[in-house]
Amino acid sequence: MEGVASRRPADVVTWSCADRVFAVLVDDNLESPDERLGIVQVEGTPDVALAVDQLEFVLPALQLVGRKPPPALADFQGRECWNSTIRQETTELKRHGADPAGGTVVAWVRDDGIASLSTRPVTSGTCADVAMRATLSGCEGVRCSGAPVVPGTAHESECQMANQHDVVFIGAGHNGLTAAAYLAKAGVDVCLLEKAAFPGGAVNTQELTLPGFKHDGGGMAHLFIQANPLIASDELELQSKFGLKYIYPEAAFATVYPDDTALFVYKDIDRTCESIAKFSPHDADAYRRFYDMTKPLVEMLASGLFSAPPPFGALMAQLDQSPVGQELIRSMMMSAWDMVNQWFEHDKTKIHLTKYVTEPLVGAEEKGSGVYLFLMVPLSHMYPAGLPEGGSGKLTEALARCVEAHGGTIRLNAEVTKIDVRDGRAVGVLLASGEEILARRAVVSNVDPRVMFADWISPEVTSSEFRRRVAAIQDPSFVGINQHLALNEPPRYKAGPEIDKAYCIEPVPWLDEYRRIYDDLRYGIPPKTKAPLVVCPTLHDPTRAPDGKHIVYLWHYEPWALKDGGPERWDTIKETVADEVLAALRQYAPNMGPENILARTIHSPLDYHRMNVNLYHGAALGPGATMYQFFSYRPIPELGQYKTPIEDLYLVGHSTHPGGGITGGGRAMVQVLMSDLGIDFDEVVSGKLLAHA
Ligand SMILES: Cc1cc2nc3c(=O)[nH]c(=O)nc-3n(C[C@H](O)[C@H](O)[C@H](O)COP(=O)(O)OP(=O)(O)OC[C@H]3O[C@@H](n4cnc5c(N)ncnc54)[C@H](O)[C@@H]3O)c2cc1C
Repeated sequence: MEGVASRRPADVVTWSCADRVFAVLVDDNLESPDERLGIVQVEGTPDVALAVDQLEFVLPALQLVGRKPPPALADFQGRECWNSTIRQETTELKRHGADPAGGTVVAWVRDDGIASLSTRPVTSGTCADVAMRATLSGCEGVRCSGAPVVPGTAHESECQMANQHDVVFIGAGHNGLTAAAYLAKAGVDVCLLEKAAFPGGAVNTQELTLPGFKHDGGGMAHLFIQANPLIASDELELQSKFGLKYIYPEAAFATVYPDDTALFVYKDIDRTCESIAKFSPHDADAYRRFYDMTKPLVEMLASGLFSAPPPFGALMAQLDQSPVGQELIRSMMMSAWDMVNQWFEHDKTKIHLTKYVTEPLVGAEEKGSGVYLFLMVPLSHMYPAGLPEGGSGKLTEALARCVEAHGGTIRLNAEVTKIDVRDGRAVGVLLASGEEILARRAVVSNVDPRVMFADWISPEVTSSEFRRRVAAIQDPSFVGINQHLALNEPPRYKAGPEIDKAYCIEPVPWLDEYRRIYDDLRYGIPPKTKAPLVVCPTLHDPTRAPDGKHIVYLWHYEPWALKDGGPERWDTIKETVADEVLAALRQYAPNMGPENILARTIHSPLDYHRMNVNLYHGAALGPGATMYQFFSYRPIPELGQYKTPIEDLYLVGHSTHPGGGITGGGRAMVQVLMSDLGIDFDEVVSGKLLAHA
């Protein structure tokens, strides 16, 4: 079926394909490129795809082109498509219609009838880029500025230029996207090559159970990123321009005890202390003193988390200058358990704090874990825990939009299998399809260095000692299993509806049983006692499930290498283990039985490793967050400044500073890369240096 582009009144392009007619509205009067475009399928299937917030533009467009609008707005099945370019699978790209006047839109239709459009202006470069992608994926009839791509012509070499970029990223996780977005804003031609069919890596939102139930496939609590100027100062306009909106629940955490009482962590320190004082005035007072002691130093350190880390020795020397700095150094050598015992008396406080500080996947009784008590207590009162409206993936969607709006390219289903190193310099990458993408200035890997150096780089390029040290990067103490539930109603805790005001809920057993969980983990045994982390995002954001329905995220610590059967055995036991976690939750929330659960999807540690090798050995946060793999020693000192022994090859992501989690840590890395490229990061941020200026 031929794709036919025809120009209608100045601001509408329509075309037909596979018996369907599509209309695109282009309104150049609007400022944001995203707002300029509306797309709608006007005939064919009842499923009308369009950006919900563009309805008012699309409806007049339909009238303009003389098509009958659907009878009522309610008949629209709202679906976002304004960033559909990034979701485009190039292998499926079959037809496109270009605005023949050299205007502002390139649109195409996949075989399955899904329409996509590029929000990038059609200059010869970008048009060639689109055409090149289409040509490479074997599409016929692709036109670029009206001209077919004919092998051997100047136009073809123009297209081939599209396979070269200034900076090529391997992986489009949120860290890679962050770094790429800053670069693109500075006018650097970036290309992100992403193996998966969606951008965002471990920050994604998908219908993992039933249609309309939007689960976070990876990270869900956006805590540390709130301190990052990326969000705090909206440096890339993710909130003001690219559609990201945070919701901040009233309380970040609630620890629920077997006697159906609870401890709440609010951003407000006074309210938190009041909650602790209900069972221990002594601990409430100690908590406040601990906060007062740690806050000034952590405030100072927090600003450094989003820039390259200082050398470890220099950092220690500086900390050693003050009593509170010395206390921080001591905490790096103590366990959180030791510290908690020095400060607090009540079991409930001890359980709460030693659970809270294990979020980085370090056991609270391991030496060095004390630093997380030192850092996490003040941080939780300095910044609110947020969740993006619509799901975690809205962060990475906004980042992707930002990259594209500044002229960057994101290619999905593009698996890198090799890094091309010539004369000690990274010059490009090879895709599984056999295609080579060249990097004029740098290659940046968003993937764990253990994978990169073992699988993608010829061994002779680095020394055997270096490879040994990379292979010896340590996993975290434990990993986790997750289950995503589609529910009729939210968990109803025996502790009462007050629990619903918290985002993360931690139902815990009493202290001795709780401590034994970590003994089992040490021995590779799925803990007999379960203490899950429960999140019901729909209580705070009802857009994530059909009317009145709910979703739950049910996470539990488990070992990677099972004593009995190794990691491979996860395929056999994951359902049983998930059932046990659910049964533990039922003791606190009795309505979590089969009658309430509409559907469930379980992800074991092995599933995570398989779905994204950057979650190496199932580690949600990358290499272990122990102090010898932190700051400028993350993951090892030789790689601690995002550079590698190979010239122009850089690392970004949770295996580098500031470590695992939704941090936007790519902001730190990109400052190093920009400095090497001769770009002033501060000017980019302040807007003095703008892309395409
Ligand atoms: C289940 C789970 C729960 C979590 N919960 C939280 C939480 O609540 N709060 C929090 O702060 N953090 C949480 N995290 C951690 C956080 O999500 C991650 O640390 C962070 O998102 C990592 O981002 P990244 O950009 O470094 O890497 P990733 O997001 O892992 O991105 C790497 C990208 O590289 C791609 N890739 C891999 N191989 C190739 C290849 N050969 N070619 C091309 N591309 C490739 C991958 O597909 C992926 O998109 C959680 C993680 C998981 C898995």
